[in-house]
Amino acid sequence: MKPLNTIVQENRVVGEIANGLPLTIPVYRLKGSGTGPSVYIQANMHGAEVQGNAVIYQLLELLKHLPLNGDITLVPYANPIGCNQKSGEFTLGRFDPITGTNWNRMYHDHTDLLDDFLLNHSHLDDSALKSRFKRLLIEQSQKRLDGPANHLTTGKRIALNLQRLAHEADIVLDLHTGPISTKHLYCPLYAQESARYFDIQNVLLIPEGFGGAMDEACFCPWWQLSSALQAKGRDFDVAVEAFTVELGSQEKIDLREAKDDARGILSYLAHKEVIVSSEFKPRKMKRFGCYLKDYEAFYAPMGGMVEYTAPLGEPIPAGTTIAHILRMERYLSEQPLNVISIDKPAIPILHFASASVNQGTELYKFFTNYFEL
Ligand SMILES: [Zn+2]
Repeated sequence: MKPLNTIVQENRVVGEIANGLPLTIPVYRLKGSGTGPSVYIQANMHGAEVQGNAVIYQLLELLKHLPLNGDITLVPYANPIGCNQKSGEFTLGRFDPITGTNWNRMYHDHTDLLDDFLLNHSHLDDSALKSRFKRLLIEQSQKRLDGPANHLTTGKRIALNLQRLAHEADIVLDLHTGPISTKHLYCPLYAQESARYFDIQNVLLIPEGFGGAMDEACFCPWWQLSSALQAKGRDFDVAVEAFTVELGSQEKIDLREAKDDARGILSYLAHKEVIVSSEFKPRKMKRFGCYLKDYEAFYAPMGGMVEYTAPLGEPIPAGTTIAHILRMERYLSEQPLNVISIDKPAIPILHFASASVNQGTELYKFFTNYFEL
């Protein structure tokens, strides 16, 4: 079938490596009619979290045949260092190996722009205010990239390049995975209604606050703008929605699963009228919400060899066994098998990828005090 839309590729240089070669990322663009919101989707900021690339593949396969209202930009391999950072047969790439900083904590915080912007532009109507603020975020990101090269770390340069692209969009999706994980969605509180359109059962609701991640870099400025205007008695909806979509486990490509994930994303984009299609509807499912403050880490109470037994993604009652920790050096002297249980109702979301753990390793993360969305 002849595609309806043309896909254009640009290779964006985001740095240089030691032998002088450029670090590049592929940027794919599809043009819409200009009547709907624009979208930015990136994947693989963390090296081992490769499934998002497959989801972008499936999205491109579907999007080229769909009528589009909004422009769509897709960036696989968003971090060209991360996915190449191997140790033996495994991929590392969660942290910059030189500085130890998480690759997804280096985006720029634009908070300092707000007061000045409000002082000079509060008189504009909603639509003009939105386009002026969007332009400011793009310009300020570009200004940092064009500034003295000695001011930017490797990771900050990559992040600013991505952020510069993401600020053009009204909708931003950053595709990640957990270590061994069920699907879950990081959703800002104000966008809770939108969470129903993704085919993702477990939704983490996050408050306003900037910790350096891509989703926050995209929604925080707009959330702050909306709150500041609200304080002055003016209603101005948060104009941008941004989510971190956690697709499952790392180190795994599953093309059929990726097609389902792509269809889930298109269901949300159809709801937002980015694409013109009645084909993509959210699946009926029980959805659970959990506030970020109730997203609990469970650290290994002892070192040892772990059998993980909690069913990921499903509610479990208090007292459920979540792991067996084997301590073979105790076989003759004490009990070698230790049963680990959780003392409250919870939904297990993800667990550590390895079966050997030190005392204090983050064994699991759980939704607690969860509720039906
Ligand atoms: Zn990640």
